[in-house]
Amino acid sequence: AEASMLQQQEELVMKTVDVSLGTRSYPIYIGNGLLQHRPELFRKHIPGKKVLVVTNENIAKIYLDKTVQALTGGDSQLSVESVVLPDGEDFKTLDDVARVWDKALQSRMDRGTTFLALGGGVVGDMCGFAAACYQRGVHFIQVPTTVMAQVDSSVGGKTGVNHPLGKNMIGAFYQPRAVLCDTDTLTTLPDRELASGISEIVKYGLIRDAPLFAWLEENMEKLMARDTVATAYAIERSCINKAEVVAADERETNDLRATLNLGHTFGHAIETGTGYGTLLHGEAVGWIDRSILDRTRTLLQRARLPVTVPPEMSVDLFKSLMAVDKKVSAGKLRLILLKGPLGSCVVTGDFDTAKLDETLQHFCS
Ligand code: NAD
Ligand code: MG
Repeated sequence: AEASMLQQQEELVMKTVDVSLGTRSYPIYIGNGLLQHRPELFRKHIPGKKVLVVTNENIAKIYLDKTVQALTGGDSQLSVESVVLPDGEDFKTLDDVARVWDKALQSRMDRGTTFLALGGGVVGDMCGFAAACYQRGVHFIQVPTTVMAQVDSSVGGKTGVNHPLGKNMIGAFYQPRAVLCDTDTLTTLPDRELASGISEIVKYGLIRDAPLFAWLEENMEKLMARDTVATAYAIERSCINKAEVVAADERETNDLRATLNLGHTFGHAIETGTGYGTLLHGEAVGWIDRSILDRTRTLLQRARLPVTVPPEMSVDLFKSLMAVDKKVSAGKLRLILLKGPLGSCVVTGDFDTAKLDETLQHFCS
């Protein structure tokens, strides 16, 4: 039994990436079996005695018991409550976030409480916002369960909800105390969600990490097959990239952090133009037209991501939707454009508008 225990331990992958933000610095733990075998990893980041787990109906069925067990097992003194939100981007609203506050107040949770997000980007963004506002700020931990959340949304402290007039328009910068990426949770992720998350890894390759792009060209099939070692590596590289950008530009005060939004100008236009939910976030932003187009297209196709524009998107629709983009400054549209060798990009309003028209014409049928 001891030998098999040992063998099991040897098969555990565990990596740590640090996000350096002075007093707000925190670790990201990445590996398999973390919830099951390494609960101390996140327990040590919970300073008080009370935890509120925030999750949704779908994830609660699969992971809530495991998470509560990890929090309360052994010699734990923690008392744990949970709030289960409805599933989906449609419920990423201020009304739904208020359910978290209702539960916390009903349970008489004080400022020493820790809010723990268990879920994808929607739950993470909502729980983080709830934590930022509850009694002016309580401790916050992320346990992301989608690739999208493990490589992108759980890191960096952007939290918030949608407003009927715009996506992610209400929110706060609020950093977690730790992020725990358990790759085992990805085994139940639908294929389409897996691919949507992989598009964000491709994004890091395109904007700042050419070796990661090349690694993806070698290893895409392993990622699609959810190989543990490859998955943990891709998450680690992604988190290193995101952590570097966030450490240098925590509040998006210059253009550096904005480069993480590669594809958003086009992607959000597609999301709005086709109705939220028709395309997943990662599917909609996976459209890139530059010199490395062919390699990118091939890579995205291997991840089974769409590489064409939905038929209902006309050039005019694109243009009118892109005009309301957050990056429009002083009436001028700014774009994140890949420029120079693979792995570099610029944020600029200084581009040839005729070229943009041509590109849109080319992609819209
Ligand atoms: P999501 O949170 O809606 O999750 C996708 C679907 O997968 C949901 O139905 C969810 O219930 C389900 N799911 C989650 N984990 C699962 C698991 N382990 N097994 C089975 N099903 C599971 O979507 P997402 O792609 O994770 O996140 C998208 C959101 O993230 C958007 O709202 C976007 O605005 C936000 N986002 C935020 C940032 C940021 O910096 N804060 C960055 C990128 C995206
Ligand atoms: Mg994105």
